Amino acid sequence: MINVLFAAREARWPEYQIPLQQAFAKAGLTVNLSQNHPPDTVDYIVYAPNSDVQDFAPYTKCRGVLNLWAGVEDVVHNETLTQPLARMVDYGLTQGMIEWVTGHVLRLHLGMDAHILGQDGVWRTDTPPLSKDRRVSIFGLGALGAACGQALASLGFPVTGWSRSPKDIAGITCLNGDKGFQVALEAADIAVLLVPLTPQTTGLINAAALAQMPKGAMLLNPARGPVIDDEALLAALESGHIAQATLDVFAVEPLPADHPYWAHPAVTVTPHIASTTRADTASEMIAKNIARDQNGQGLIHLVDRTSGY
Ligand code: NDP
Repeated sequence: MINVLFAAREARWPEYQIPLQQAFAKAGLTVNLSQNHPPDTVDYIVYAPNSDVQDFAPYTKCRGVLNLWAGVEDVVHNETLTQPLARMVDYGLTQGMIEWVTGHVLRLHLGMDAHILGQDGVWRTDTPPLSKDRRVSIFGLGALGAACGQALASLGFPVTGWSRSPKDIAGITCLNGDKGFQVALEAADIAVLLVPLTPQTTGLINAAALAQMPKGAMLLNPARGPVIDDEALLAALESGHIAQATLDVFAVEPLPADHPYWAHPAVTVTPHIASTTRADTASEMIAKNIARDQNGQGLIHLVDRTSGY
């Protein structure tokens, strides 16, 4: 019998209990899934950082903590967490992000807001360029960035991507390093941020970075709020250098009602819904990962504590 502790906010339990039990059965695992195992009996923890579990020291036989979210910035620096930490990489998160990113890139590319918001009797005949003439740069080429980049490339957009290490991804011009960052910014008619939040990516999109983007560039941020310097972005929107920002994530969430982003005509706010962990596909991933570990293959999607993602 494998003891799995479900450690997330109470509200998540009804959502995950049955999908997890079904996924464990499908993976051939005999699991006692509970929200209340005594800590020293727990084999694995299915985890969300907003749970009551903040001290991992009592979980002495725990073989792994499986984070429900892709981002781990709220747990990775917990010094009591000595157990392996896996993050969520699954079909649902990836497909959700592909749909949000391609949907909003197409919306911005086609200038759809002018028609959706402008049903005012004015016959607007501006023709957008074809996708081949709109360059997209993706900052972060991991599970989500690479998939979004390839989806956009398949729609005809010239896609440049930037990551920490060198990459070779079909359909994407892959860059890295400081020079690569500069080239990717210069090629960003539309910039899409998909880096994790780490000390290195905090404030990555600052005044200098925004200034290197082409005049009239547009920006999508479904990564994490602090990747953008908000003051710098608001100034760049004010000057018109950046034409539009569609923001899903913020330094403070929910975004306070009096934040200037809500009222800014060139900003679209979405409430951290770019891609949500779906209980069905996430449960399958968690079950597969535990089955791997039980079969001696080890957990996958492990977080590197040094890099912080
Ligand atoms: P991954 O860890 O798979 O990919 C991260 C990418 O960012 C990698 O390509 C990595 O480079 C690159 N990167 C990290 N640090 C740097 C740096 N200092 N300089 C340059 N590149 C860097 O993450 P995912 O793709 O799964 O997710 C990305 C982020 O998306 C998550 O961390 C999360 O914050 C956010 N997210 C938001 C959601 C939403 O609903 N808004 C939903 C899900 C995720 P390398 O490949 O070389 O390691």
